[in-house]
Amino acid sequence: THFGYKTVKTEEKQAMVADVFHSVAAKYDIMNDLMSFGVHRVWKKYTIEMSGVRVGNKVLDIAGGTGDLTKAFSKRVGPNGQVILADINESMLRVGRDKLADSGVAGNLEVVQANAEVLPFPNDFFDVVTIAFGLRNVTDKDKALAEMHRVLKPGGRLLVLEFSKPKNELLSKAYDLYSFKALPLMGKLVTQDADSYQYLAESIRKHPDQETLKGMMLNAGFARVSFHNLTGGIVAMHRGVKA
Ligand code: SAM
Repeated sequence: THFGYKTVKTEEKQAMVADVFHSVAAKYDIMNDLMSFGVHRVWKKYTIEMSGVRVGNKVLDIAGGTGDLTKAFSKRVGPNGQVILADINESMLRVGRDKLADSGVAGNLEVVQANAEVLPFPNDFFDVVTIAFGLRNVTDKDKALAEMHRVLKPGGRLLVLEFSKPKNELLSKAYDLYSFKALPLMGKLVTQDADSYQYLAESIRKHPDQETLKGMMLNAGFARVSFHNLTGGIVAMHRGVKA
């Protein structure tokens, strides 16, 4: 493969993803701000606006990591709502739990360790499910999308925020350079861990593009699937409704 990064077998992927997020958890938030120049906050805000979340809603933030979306949702749904921060990785969840406790948002929040492929929740339960920068790390994405569909109420919305394919050739070239050269270097300087950020760049390149992900959501049973390019398609926000 390009840039010398070795291809990993599917069955090894989950273990590698676990290593990556154990390793980056403590510095995850600061790296997000550095690597995206703070713009990840805008992408997340947009996702929350597009979710149509209301007071009293039940929300699942899967692969929620350090809880940025969870925190914003918990303010939106109010004391009678419920927000569940779920992630497969206990290191990320630990950072997330501390952050949520510090921010004083509590009462309507729960933290659950779970794999997106096997969600420990009943059918037709949530008004909104989000997965932000998480789907590309999941081994069986079709299975995970089917699970997200299952746990949504009819009329409930799935929002997938994920890196995607830049729309313009020049932006695409610049972005390639940035992610394969600058990202691992920043990772090395800030976290002494260049490999994790090399994985990040690789996983972004392998992730399905806008139309492919839209097709996967339709396959999983979602209706009215649409996507919105953000920052020239570097990121896309896909939205689907459970009919
Ligand atoms: N959603 C957060 C955000 O936007 O800042 C965190 C995103 S972080 C890049 C990706 C997260 O996906 C990590 O916390 C990782 O542990 C989690 N993850 C990876 N594979 C997963 C799986 N199969 N099920 C649930 N979470 C998973």
